[in-house]
Amino acid sequence: MPASPATRSSPCDTARVRGPARQSSALPHTFTGLAEEWPKFNLYGSNLVRIPPEIGAMSSLQEFTPYTSYRLHWFPCELTRCPSLKRSTVSTRALCGNEKLRPPFPPLQPGRAVTADLSLDDVDPGKWGTTAIRRCSVRDRSLGGAEIHQAWISLPVATDVLPLLVNACSAACLQVLPKPPEDYVQTPHAGGPGLAQPTADYA
Ligand SMILES: [Zn+2]
Repeated sequence: MPASPATRSSPCDTARVRGPARQSSALPHTFTGLAEEWPKFNLYGSNLVRIPPEIGAMSSLQEFTPYTSYRLHWFPCELTRCPSLKRSTVSTRALCGNEKLRPPFPPLQPGRAVTADLSLDDVDPGKWGTTAIRRCSVRDRSLGGAEIHQAWISLPVATDVLPLLVNACSAACLQVLPKPPEDYVQTPHAGGPGLAQPTADYA
């Protein structure tokens, strides 16, 4: 059957991370400058530990495949901005809060942080989950001079429910996030081992 333009796939328009990039644990924030037109993003078996929020700029992305990237435990909330994203294949057990095992979410900074104290282009990824925090995940406005409210939320993305990290400019932005599906923590939360989650399937 001839491929339709929507499902067409060639080495030029399919993103498959190879070679040194595949072995790397982080993608540069600038990668989406190259990737805006990619319809597929295949991270099969990568060693990535996080994906930068800039993935939200991949306006042509239809298929996201982080399958067997076992070090990817969560995704940036900006993934929900990709307007064409329809299919995903993830390794569920690797995900924070998954229904089978309910592994904990990393603890976030309680309360809020004032960005005057932070260089937003160079933050500690171990503490903030990214190396740069530039824009509010919810309203896509600059975080310069704003407070940063970080939270976890589990939401449907393509064909999965994914744990998402939100960088919001206000508590009001956290309040307009959609309600998570049943069987997931029902509000944005700060994670940590003390978080009460629904019972795991394999408990
Ligand atoms: Zn905001």
